[in-house]
Amino acid sequence: MTDNKNITIALAGNPNSGKTTIFNNITGARQKVGNWPGVTVEKKEGLINKFGYELKIVDLPGTYSLTPFSIEEIVARDFVLEESPDVIIDIIDSSNLERSLYLAMQFREIDSKVLFALNMADIARLQETKIDAQKLSKLLDVPVVFTVGNKNEGIDNLLKEAIKLAESGSEKKEKRNIKYSKDIENAISKIQKLIEEKAKNKINYKSRWTAIKLLEDDKIVKERFAQKAGTAGEEIIEETRAIRAYLSNHFNEDPEIIMTDDRYGFISGIIKEVQITSPKKRVDISRNIDLVLTHKFIGFPIFIFFIWAMFQLTFSLGAYPMGWIESGVAMLSSGLERVVPGSILKDLLINGIIAGMGSVIVFFPNILILFFCIALFEDTGYMARTAFLMDKVMHLIGLHGKSFIPMLMGFGCNVPAIMATRTLESEKDRILTILITPFMSCSARLPIYIVLAGTFFAERAGNVIFSLYLLGILLSIVSGRVFRSTLLKGDDAPFVMELPPYRVPMLKSLTIHMWDRSKMFLRRMGGVILIGSIIVWFLSAFPQNINYSEDYSHKIDIEKSYMGKIGKGLSPVFEPLGIDWRGSLSLVTGFFAKEIVVSTLGVLYSTKGPDNKDALKNALRSSGMTPLSALSMMVFVLLYLPCLATITMIKKETASFKWTAFSIIYSTSIAWIMAFFVYQGGRILGF
Ligand code: GDP
Ligand code: MG
Repeated sequence: MTDNKNITIALAGNPNSGKTTIFNNITGARQKVGNWPGVTVEKKEGLINKFGYELKIVDLPGTYSLTPFSIEEIVARDFVLEESPDVIIDIIDSSNLERSLYLAMQFREIDSKVLFALNMADIARLQETKIDAQKLSKLLDVPVVFTVGNKNEGIDNLLKEAIKLAESGSEKKEKRNIKYSKDIENAISKIQKLIEEKAKNKINYKSRWTAIKLLEDDKIVKERFAQKAGTAGEEIIEETRAIRAYLSNHFNEDPEIIMTDDRYGFISGIIKEVQITSPKKRVDISRNIDLVLTHKFIGFPIFIFFIWAMFQLTFSLGAYPMGWIESGVAMLSSGLERVVPGSILKDLLINGIIAGMGSVIVFFPNILILFFCIALFEDTGYMARTAFLMDKVMHLIGLHGKSFIPMLMGFGCNVPAIMATRTLESEKDRILTILITPFMSCSARLPIYIVLAGTFFAERAGNVIFSLYLLGILLSIVSGRVFRSTLLKGDDAPFVMELPPYRVPMLKSLTIHMWDRSKMFLRRMGGVILIGSIIVWFLSAFPQNINYSEDYSHKIDIEKSYMGKIGKGLSPVFEPLGIDWRGSLSLVTGFFAKEIVVSTLGVLYSTKGPDNKDALKNALRSSGMTPLSALSMMVFVLLYLPCLATITMIKKETASFKWTAFSIIYSTSIAWIMAFFVYQGGRILGF
């Protein structure tokens, strides 16, 4: 089968066991790693040449079992079943052997070639857990290799073993499978026999495995089996139903529950054989930290403090490099102003492209800091704690803490956040989470806050920005509550949030993490923001109303341009919010990407010439905007319709035009109403 030199290797394992880390080590790719479940939602592939083979490595999403509950588990199982990789490497968290073996045993049952990587060997060592790899290997008839993913230890060895396994003959040895209770085994044999008699060649799954899954009443396998095996399949399923009824009656319990018990029993037997533990140290450290960070009363304030500190840092530390870049942009544009001869192209370059992109690029340091903090939360394991802390709050809206992780990711960018809802089991929970995630203020909105809050709230800017984020969270919770009791009625699925041990983050991983997300920002600079700036410039420069003088001074009368006309047309909508026609225009262009709000302001206000670095700030101040109207505008930006990329993702993930339209209309209405209350309320109170 594998005499050509291509080998497909799938990396499988529990969430957070180090799959992506090992994948990156092998392929040199830079996939995201994180110390919390649900990071890898889709499978990733990488090709490398090594030891004379072409290896295709597939990083599967993490799963605890092959009984699929969530989309990621289905993705992982389908890959293993339908694409039969040559070898599956099951990445096992050695510091948590018992839990990992549950999945491992299911790979044995599927009958694919599987190899165990005992990863996190360093942590197991710290915990003074000793695993007798040789014995484990012998007991289960599986090659076993120790690895330390984040230090790249044992990886070559792992690949060599994988190749050896792929090249080994596939003749079946007597395997040490799980033995189930006698009645269950009898039932399995009976169904297996039926399959072999009536439907042998119609399915490509192994017959024992199919029998087990049918007995467990696995919906997906049942459906596929019925489809492929036709009437014979129907008969067998009917027969299975009778057997299940008999067993349920006999055990007073569904057969799958007995089978799960049997599996755990088998596993604890193995553990007794191969593992010597003195469970101390590491676990205790994590537990002690958790005593404080997830404490009933102080845990939550600490969480809020961390978030607050993050925005303070983002704003205050970011101000320095921001100043440098601002000066750089100002120098560039005044330099060009002097050397380039006056023409419409010069105007495009300086007042369109540089004014637009320049006004956005200055926020790059802030974005870096924000993403660094988020990476720190993720890699240390704190992120999972926040989900735990939020669990109570989330239950108020009938969701569990797990839904909070996609929402937190939304602080970075709503697009991956919405994709991350795939970790949720229930369809209703997913839609609900997708609907409320856009209220989580993404990093593209940050530049707008920094400009407006920085201009109008000076030293209180950090607090204002922090409050906006809180408002976003609050509104998402309130909306969730409303949706849950109206449109998306249902109970929250039971779920136990898993708390991975705290880990000291590695600088390299933090940097990769930070960079991975930040480079999206740069990519958007060259794409949607560049194009947006040009369009905005075009609409503000035409119909031709530029006065050319000898020395070329920029004298566009924007009010007479297309932009001016559109802006004036919009004013009835935005006037009650205290937002002038320039602000309205920038909000409209922000539909393409939120950063464009800032670049539009940059272009619209550049009419006085971008000769000093605080040009935008000064222009804003002298435009009649007040702190109150700035606040109103920020609230609107926080809440109004998601950007184009997010909307596209919502459409893709809900697969529903109706929900997508609902999300757009709902968020924009809420934005208008909230901004209205802020502005009009503030005026009544005399601000
Ligand atoms: P995945 O969910 O299985 O893809 O896991 P990741 O690759 O995202 O890794 C989860 C966390 O474990 C990251 O913080 C890694 O840096 C860390 N990690 C991975 N392998 C090891 C290891 O062998 N030892 C230790 N101490 N940490 C590891
Ligand atoms: Mg992963």
